[in-house]
This record gives sequence, C-alpha cells and structure tokens, in this order.
Amino acid sequence: MEREPTASNWVNHIIVQEEIDKYLVKGKNFINSQEIFSKLAKNSSPSQEKIRDILQKSLSVKTLSPDETAALLNVTSPDLWEEIFHTALEVKKKVYDNRIVFFAPLYCSNLCVNNCAYCGFREANNREVRRILSMDEIKRETASVLKEGHKRLILVFGEHYRSDVDYMSAAVKAVYSVEEIALQSGRASSIRRVNINAAPMEISKLQILKGAGIGTYQVFQETYHPETYQTVHPENTVKGNYQWRLYALHRAMDAGIDDVAIGALFGLYDWRFEVMGLLYHTLDLERHFGVGPHTISFPRMTPASGSSLSSDSRWNVSDDDFKKLVAVLRLSVPTAGMIVTAREKAEIKRTVLKLGCTQTDASTRIGIGAYSELKKDNDLDTKQFTIGDPRDLDEVIQEVARMGFIASFCTAGYRCGRTGDTIMGMLSHCDEGKFCKLNAVLTFREYLSDYASDATRQLGESLIMKEIGEIESMDYFKKKPHLLNKFRSEYSEILGGKRDLYL
Ligand code: SAM
Ligand code: SF4
Repeated sequence: MEREPTASNWVNHIIVQEEIDKYLVKGKNFINSQEIFSKLAKNSSPSQEKIRDILQKSLSVKTLSPDETAALLNVTSPDLWEEIFHTALEVKKKVYDNRIVFFAPLYCSNLCVNNCAYCGFREANNREVRRILSMDEIKRETASVLKEGHKRLILVFGEHYRSDVDYMSAAVKAVYSVEEIALQSGRASSIRRVNINAAPMEISKLQILKGAGIGTYQVFQETYHPETYQTVHPENTVKGNYQWRLYALHRAMDAGIDDVAIGALFGLYDWRFEVMGLLYHTLDLERHFGVGPHTISFPRMTPASGSSLSSDSRWNVSDDDFKKLVAVLRLSVPTAGMIVTAREKAEIKRTVLKLGCTQTDASTRIGIGAYSELKKDNDLDTKQFTIGDPRDLDEVIQEVARMGFIASFCTAGYRCGRTGDTIMGMLSHCDEGKFCKLNAVLTFREYLSDYASDATRQLGESLIMKEIGEIESMDYFKKKPHLLNKFRSEYSEILGGKRDLYL
C-alpha cells in the first residue's frame, strides 16, 4: 500500500539544485546588493534634465537601466515628482490604453510547510483555522465568483504536499469546467483564464501546470535583499532558499509558461532597494528569454493572524512613497502589466490606478471557501492577511468608469497565442494596446448586458459609445478595415446574445 508522504519527506524533494545552478553566471545570481546600493548612491542627486531624458525614454517604451531607475528613485523635488506621475499615466495609456483588467483571487488552501514571518498561513501559527478545498468546493467557489461577472481567476495556495502540483492542476481543470448562467441575460458564462500564485517548482512540475491550461504563473520574491530574506524565511524551510525562489520564473519560462509574474512584498525592506530588485529581475528575464515579466505586483504588507511583523515593521511604506514606487515601476518597465490588489484601501487604489496600474481585483474574499459560504470574511484567523477594499465588482467598475477607465475581462491575448515575447513585442510597439481596446469594449459590453446594475450600465454605455467613437477615428484601424469590420460585427453579435467573441 502506498504511504501518504509526510511533510518532512516531501519537502526534502522540492529543491533541484541543478535548476538553480544553470541560471547562475560564474556562480552568482542577478542580485548584487552592493551594486544596488552603489547605483542608488551614484545617482543620488539627478539633474532635472537627466530626469526629463529618462521620462522620454520611458515614453518610447524602453526598459530603463538600473542607473536610470536609481535616478528616478532619488528625485526630491515635488514638481518633478508631479511630472513623473503624469508621465507614468501617459506611458500606461500609450501601451495599454485606458483599460483596467479585473480578476478575482480564489484561495484554495491555507496549509503550508513554511514559516514566513509576515504570513497568517505559516505552519507555526496555531491560530489559523486550516482548510483545503475539495474539487467540489472549488467548483462552488468558482460559481459564486462567476455570478459577480468575473472571467479571470488567480488560484492561490500555501506550499504543502496536500496542495501539490496534481492538486493544483485538478483545481485549474475544476475551475474551467464550471458554467454559470448570468441572471440578467440568461447567457452561460465560465472562467476564461486561470492564473496561479504558488510556491516555486521544478521544471517538470511546471510543465504539468502548463498542460492544465494556466495563464500566468506568479511568484513574489517577497524581498530581494538577501539578509532580510533570511531573517523572515527560516533557513530550515523550503522557502528559506533565496535562489530557488529567485529563479522560479526562469524555470517557468523553460517549462513553456511564457507569461510570468514577478512581485515584492513591500514593508520587509527599503522600498527603493525592492524596486531596483524588481528591475534587475526584469533585466535578467529579458537577457535569458528576450522577454520580461507579464506583470509586476507590489503588495504592501497588511496585518496577518499571529504576526507582529506584519503590523509593525520599520520598513512599512507610507502612502506617499507607495505612489512613488508605483510610478517608478511603471516608467522602468513600460511593457509590464501592473497589479494593485484589494490589500489597498479604495482611496489608494484610485490614486495608483491613475499612475499606470493595469489590473485590479474586486469582490475579493480571501478566506478559504468565503465566496460560496457567504461568511463575513472578517475573521483574521481564517485567512492570510487583511484586505482594505472589500467592495463588489459592480461598485469598483462604476467608480473606474467615472474616472474614464473601461473595465476589461479580456483573455484574448492568451487564447490567441499573444503571450510571452509575441505580446511583449506588440506592447513595445504599442500594438497590443489597440487589440486590448477592442477586446475591452467587447468584454465590457458583455458585462453590462449580463451583470451590471442600472447605474453602472448607464455610465458604462456612454463610456462604450465614446470608446467606439475613438476606435472609429483611429488611423491604426482605418488602415486595418478588416479588423474594424470584425469588431463591429462581433459587437452587434454580443448585443444579439452571443458571448465570448474576441479579436
Ligand atoms: N505560498 C505561496 C508562496 O509563498 O509563494 C503562495 C503565496 S502566498 C499565499 C501569496 C502572497 O501573499 C505571498 O507571496 C506574499 O507576498 C503575500 N503575503 C503574505 N503575507 C502577507 C501580508 N501579511 N500582507 C500582504 N501580503 C502578504
Ligand atoms: Fe506559506 Fe506562502 Fe504564507 Fe509563506 S507566504 S507562509 S509560503 S503561504
């Protein structure tokens, strides 16, 4: 009879040293703390002209160099910061147009073998109520999320043998299998893109995830500062291996998952260092694979069950600095999508959406089973951390529509093979943004017909008319009449009841 693996023998087989070593250059990884500190020091008082030159480079959709990013991080003049903020939104509009992509997180399990000092899921936290969802429960959660109008999910897991790659793959397939009828239109709907946030894996396991049909694979380095990393991730845990995590996304690329998502947990160490770390990570992915990250995340640490660090860190990032780091990231990696999550309060979300963020979540419940079991979701001991914006999707969509942004549920890029270097090449030539605009309108149209409240529908319809007017008058589309015609006919078909049409 086959014995169930115990946590202790399972963890011993996770890290494959050759799958770290193969990416090192002369035995070294791409984070050199001394180099980061000296770039920050060398560029400590950049001239106004230099900053303006850097802003021009971002506007031409080029990844900045470490010196350039360090210079931006050292700006002190409030007026110059205003120029930076303004340019960040301009860059976003140029690359991604005025759309905001919506998604929902689905927490599948809070079992974890690690002991990250900031996280409620850590093994030593006896207060956490442990639970792993069955496939039926995952389907129920998916149905509840679909009722809100979502089309994109990110599944989140602790690291544990009970939520191993086979469990994750089954979860992905379970999500895709669910069909739910939209109350307002009676049309069937399902999740069209499942992303994953899970611990680093070896390449053969990542290939299994790819085979299950995942979109993006997301791993946050948490902190790029090696000494801090060792302090918050005990050495005797899998997560204690800094380099295993640092190359998680290189391995994903090698496994054929070409949309990878990086991030840092802000509040563990100096925010300027972390921004530099994210840039070096981008540059190393570009060097190895010719393409950078699909998205960048910059979660700020929020209070977690049983974690004093999570509510009392000397490195906590103020709202002012948060704005700065978002804008500098937007300018440093113009092609990357940027995700602000419900960890942030509504007011901050509003601010950073105007600084170039491209994606956000809404109707967010992070308790295990919290979507379908209609729990209040306010008990810290059933989840990973605290959220700042629990508002429903409809409310957030209405708000962004008032700000002039169009909500998008587009999953076309991934389904049409516009991923990895194809999509990044298109983004750098500002072509993908045009497709996004069309697909945003089509998916927003679906949302308005199927789920929106009356107020959101009214507002959304006038925004759509404005968008269509812009599309009709754009030279890019005038030169591509076949695209415009296809868009027009798909738009009418959606009004007539068809669903899931894209370009
Ligand atoms: N266990 C996997 C791992 O560590 O990669 C999945 C990640 S965890 C469930 C998702 C992310 O939540 C972490 O990578 C971390 O950045 C973030 N997180 C953990 N504790 C947090 C806190 N107190 N506040 C905000 N974000 C937190
Ligand atoms: Fe586990 Fe991830 Fe939380 Fe660390 S951050 S304790 S690995 S769930």
